[in-house]
Amino acid sequence: MTEPVTVAKKPRPLRKLESRCVDVVRNTHDTVTLHFDTGAQPEYDAGQFISIDPRQFPELSRQIAFLEHLKGKREQHRAYSMSSAPAERYVAITVKAETFDPKHDKYPPLLSPFLASDAMKGRKVAFVGYTGAYTLDDDHGEQTSQVLHLCAGSGIVPNYALLKDELLNRKNPSVKHTMVYVNKTVGDVIFEAELQQMAHDFPERFDLVHCLTRDEPGERGAWWRKGRPTAEWVRSLVKDPTTVQVFACGAAITKHQRHAAEETGIAPTPRFMEGVEEIVHALGVDKARFKSEEFG
Ligand SMILES: Cc1cc2nc3c(=O)[nH]c(=O)nc-3n(C[C@H](O)[C@H](O)[C@H](O)COP(=O)(O)OP(=O)(O)OC[C@H]3O[C@@H](n4cnc5c(N)ncnc54)[C@H](O)[C@@H]3O)c2cc1C
Repeated sequence: MTEPVTVAKKPRPLRKLESRCVDVVRNTHDTVTLHFDTGAQPEYDAGQFISIDPRQFPELSRQIAFLEHLKGKREQHRAYSMSSAPAERYVAITVKAETFDPKHDKYPPLLSPFLASDAMKGRKVAFVGYTGAYTLDDDHGEQTSQVLHLCAGSGIVPNYALLKDELLNRKNPSVKHTMVYVNKTVGDVIFEAELQQMAHDFPERFDLVHCLTRDEPGERGAWWRKGRPTAEWVRSLVKDPTTVQVFACGAAITKHQRHAAEETGIAPTPRFMEGVEEIVHALGVDKARFKSEEFG
């Protein structure tokens, strides 16, 4: 196996795109996929994201004014990874509606509950795209024979796009994809049927293991496991830690939580991505072979 050499993707200029939301598909109790028609075949790389300005939605104007008053700064665009792969006609994003718990959260979430509502169908939506380095190198089949996907919750979104692009388009056929997907309960699993179908259709190329932290897997089968992934267990899934490429996406301690921790002196509770860092370190995976995307 050769050392990783990045074959740079052709950079595309960021553009503001006008679209119409042509379909809204509910994935779980709190997650929906929105399909946007931009009027042309979109050009991006699997794993990239778009940004949406909440200010374009008049329904949010009072909430924005109030939050800006409290926060003392302008509300920013929010980033959303695409769950669609480049060959698909529509750009899709999959949004989890964040909740508000006054014990942990300073403000209620702004954009995600609005996007993850049925109100979006048929609406015009402007977004900025396409960007992000959470992509597979064009020649990754020459760098590795295994990609390990470590995902939690809505962190499945860009990895689902990467998988679709590789498997359905039969790219890099010598590369095997191993996915560990962590959720609290069965009801939180996004794309359960779609992932299962890919595991069924590509048994030589795709292994999927679900980890549940609060539910028992019950009779769901051998590929469902109770508990968080440990370094020892993940090691048993990896053929060669010196050549594996790791793509990890999920929640990490946010800058707001770090800031609050500094003020209170109470250390923030590690989240999924802090656990991933430990696992990758314990496995001895080279930094050049590890890509991560952190959702707040
Ligand atoms: C590259 C990237 C890709 C992403 N892809 C996805 C995806 O595919 N799907 C998905 O669902 N999400 C994704 N996200 C997360 C998404 O961008 C939003 O962060 C998420 O939807 C929450 O947005 P919101 O407007 O609902 O909540 P926000 O209003 O942003 O609030 C979120 C939390 O931050 C806290 N907070 C906000 N501002 C402050 C402040 N000033 N001080 C203290 N606390 C504050 C709030 O209390 C709340 O708990 C992605 C993020 C990134 C960076």
